[in-house]
Amino acid sequence: HAKNCGKNNAKLYSSSLTMQIMSHVKLEVGLRKALKNEELYLLYQPQIDVRTGDIVGVEALVRWRHPERGIISPTEFIPLAEETGLIVPIGEWVLRTACKQAMAWQRVAKRSLRMAVNLSAKQFKDENLTQIVVSALHDTGLDPRLLELELTEGTLMDDARATMATLEQLRGIGVHLSIDDFGTGYSSMNYLKRFDVRALKIDKSFISGLPQDSENAAITRAIIAMAHGLKMVVVAEGVETDAQLGLLQEYGCDLVQGFYLGHPSPHEAITQMLLQPCAEPTPTK
Ligand code: C2E
Ligand code: MG
Ligand code: MG
Ligand code: MG
Repeated sequence: HAKNCGKNNAKLYSSSLTMQIMSHVKLEVGLRKALKNEELYLLYQPQIDVRTGDIVGVEALVRWRHPERGIISPTEFIPLAEETGLIVPIGEWVLRTACKQAMAWQRVAKRSLRMAVNLSAKQFKDENLTQIVVSALHDTGLDPRLLELELTEGTLMDDARATMATLEQLRGIGVHLSIDDFGTGYSSMNYLKRFDVRALKIDKSFISGLPQDSENAAITRAIIAMAHGLKMVVVAEGVETDAQLGLLQEYGCDLVQGFYLGHPSPHEAITQMLLQPCAEPTPTK
């Protein structure tokens, strides 16, 4: 390894670092054009009511169809969008597209679906956030109570005073808030009480080991009990098996989301699900 052939390795390393930097820069240049070139699109993942089996909402998840590289995951380009500030216009596009789609489903399926949209920290800190949300709702006609903004613990903990002010404004509009990836960050229980959050989404890392992993089972039960004690709704994300669904049902979890219930899907597939409400859950692919 490095000890034996340091010189060659250094060369190899620096050239691969150069490649990495170059591809990063190329990706950034591409991302700047992605919106204008209509390379971004949304998939929607169903959220299912554990008690009734009904689809009650969806989460919008963005994808980038890169002209050369194919489909790029948000885990790769959202951090880049955050770094460059591009997340603000991208986030606005996501919000508008999702609200428009929610209205389209209301017309086609004659029922109200909740639409969950992820907000990253930079978007949450943007001083125009409230205005962007208000105008997306106004222009599409979506009922604010059907829009749920997903924030992470990290976003909420950042700066207490500014956070409270933004949350007050969002509450004023009437949109709902949920905490995404719950359990992976730092949450003060005191904050949870003050923030007026509708839902906690248990991070999929706790769900993936169920039902065997007894520690994750204990954490999952504790989160559900706490959320219910605080009059919050609990969503389990990353549900992949029937055994996981069964356990979550037994624990009294309210909503489930995951490959077992439905993959993130194009809007047409969700329309199909809405028009055939008795369909079996999609098996894991
Ligand atoms: P997230 O909000 O926690 O979304 C859940 C992620 O888990 C999604 O990954 C989804 O495809 C994946 N997932 C769903 N069910 C399962 C399952 O059963 N098993 C496993 N292993 N995974 C499952 P995705 O779509 O790659 O998104 C990753 C993250 O990127 C999201 O995590 C969110 O933080 C961020 N993101 C996605 N879309 C947006 C967006 O429009 N705006 C912002 N700011 N962030 C976004
Ligand atoms: Mg989310
Ligand atoms: Mg999550
Ligand atoms: Mg996440």
